[in-house]
Amino acid sequence: MKAKANKGACAHCGKEYTKSGMAKHLEQCLIDKLQTTQGKTGPCFHLQVADRFSSAYWLHLQADANTTLKSLDAFLRKIWLECCGHMSVFHIGPHQLGMGRKLASILEPGMELDYEYDMGDTTALRITVMGEYPGVLTPKKPVTVLARNLPPAVLCDACGKKPAVMICPECNYEGEGWLCKGCAKKHECGDEDYFLPVVNSPRAGVCGYTG
Ligand SMILES: [Zn+2]
Ligand SMILES: [Zn+2]
Ligand SMILES: [Zn+2]
Ligand SMILES: [Zn+2]
Repeated sequence: MKAKANKGACAHCGKEYTKSGMAKHLEQCLIDKLQTTQGKTGPCFHLQVADRFSSAYWLHLQADANTTLKSLDAFLRKIWLECCGHMSVFHIGPHQLGMGRKLASILEPGMELDYEYDMGDTTALRITVMGEYPGVLTPKKPVTVLARNLPPAVLCDACGKKPAVMICPECNYEGEGWLCKGCAKKHECGDEDYFLPVVNSPRAGVCGYTG
């Protein structure tokens, strides 16, 4: 499986950029948004979240500085990760961070945090604090998407021609088993119920993740 890096769309203005292009774009777009959007404002962090081992999956997030790691964890589970309630941790180097900690008590621009979901079939993310700014807060949503990668195109590992739509979890351990419809029918590991769907997440094909 080789998911190629793709552009993503800015949630505010709709323009498309690569992950790093988006980081630059957001610096200005967040200022524009603040000037043109009504609502309560408060201190926010701009976080870039990326799969630690693939450039294909990334998010730019706005996080209320007064929210906790627990709510960031809940957000990441919802958008990218949750399959069966596995454990997760945030840490900086070897130092694990308590889930009850407020972002403002830990984060500073330029800082990098690591995050892991599931200590068995782990999905590992790198969170970079891109900046701190006064943001327009969304009631009841302490974490919101500023931008997200568009679904990467992945070609079938068997024929190399058609887009993969299903994943054999067994073969995915070896970095293969992303299959087009036709090749999935011929695949020998299991019948159709056994496959997982190709979804826009770094956890596609892992454990029981279906999106
Ligand atoms: Zn924008
Ligand atoms: Zn699971
Ligand atoms: Zn195929
Ligand atoms: Zn297989």
